[in-house]
Amino acid sequence: MEFRDLKSQYSRYKLEIDEAISNVLSKANFISGEEVKTLESKLAKYVGVKHCITCANGTDALNLALMAWKIGEGDAVFVPDFTFFASGEVVALQGATPVFVDVDKETFNIDTVKLEEAIIETIKLGKVTPKVIVAVDLFGLPANYSEIRRIANQYNLLILEDAAQGFGGSINGKRAGSFGDISTTSFFPAKPLGCYGDGGAIFTDNDNWAKQLESLRIHGKGEDKYDNVQVGLNSRLDTIQAGILNVKLDAFINHELADVNKVADYYNRELTGLVKLPVVPVDYESSWAQYTLTLESKEQREGLQSFLKSEGIPSMVYYVKPMHRQNAFQIENYDEANFPITNRLSDTVLSLPMGPYVTEEIVITVSEVIKKYMQNVRM
Ligand SMILES: *Cc1c(COP(=O)(O)O)cnc(C)c1O
Repeated sequence: MEFRDLKSQYSRYKLEIDEAISNVLSKANFISGEEVKTLESKLAKYVGVKHCITCANGTDALNLALMAWKIGEGDAVFVPDFTFFASGEVVALQGATPVFVDVDKETFNIDTVKLEEAIIETIKLGKVTPKVIVAVDLFGLPANYSEIRRIANQYNLLILEDAAQGFGGSINGKRAGSFGDISTTSFFPAKPLGCYGDGGAIFTDNDNWAKQLESLRIHGKGEDKYDNVQVGLNSRLDTIQAGILNVKLDAFINHELADVNKVADYYNRELTGLVKLPVVPVDYESSWAQYTLTLESKEQREGLQSFLKSEGIPSMVYYVKPMHRQNAFQIENYDEANFPITNRLSDTVLSLPMGPYVTEEIVITVSEVIKKYMQNVRM
């Protein structure tokens, strides 16, 4: 059994994907070919925003957004404590100060009450100026944007939506990737919409920022790429990856998003009452980058994970280390009392095999093993 099955998708779409790749090979338009433009318009339409700018990966997408806003030294950027490293790494890379905020124990997304407290505290300390909230759509579930937007308006902050895992999710039909002033996603192979290597995209309705991003991703180009008006990056999406994504985006829209939600329903049906299941609030739709259980203790999590492994079932811990404890950030004097939920989640979460090609039989097999383990620990 695979944790994320990418092979079934390839065998189903082999003809189309191989054709997309060989088209690029025969045209030899490896960089900035027409497939890239086609993909950008399809993505913008699906997400429901005016501009989509693709780039080399999801981390660059975040970096480029912060660069377009000229975020740097002296600026505070609020980031959830429970996320993938890149969400905070880009803030530090731009020279700004990441301020980590604990998350909600039900949704795993940024706790908006603690977010507002952290903003007030940062203003009071007066060392760095609040500028941006990085809102992460963790495991596929969009963050609480009605509250985040209210807070952003009140304190005059920008929202950077990190939808690397959230692509395809929605709130009341409004898609992830449309909630930020700028939003980003990743096409890393294991994400909800993945390519066959690295890739990323940036979304915005703002014409000026879109223009900035277009320039920044190609060495800060002006009129052409040999006229450089600012210092940027070399961060384009390869034409081959765009060709592959054009096929995979259609599959994602036509059936994969619905299928992965069916898989979540199967897990919910099999595991209800046995362990704490992931929560999707009313009016929210998840794209299920992960299906994540919360166990009662670290010992129970480790016990279940080894039992699953002994039965040939892969599982993963996302994330074992809270951001505030990552040595890379060299945060002095952090107070563990500020992060009770992240600290607990990092000890107790466990993600199961997930994806649109997981069958009902696989879910039943995995669930039977979990049942067996949970019944034994209860005895
Ligand atoms: C994967 C991921 C990223 C980075 O994407 P890459 O394409 O791997 O650079 C950023 N944020 C989150 C939340 C992610 O899961």
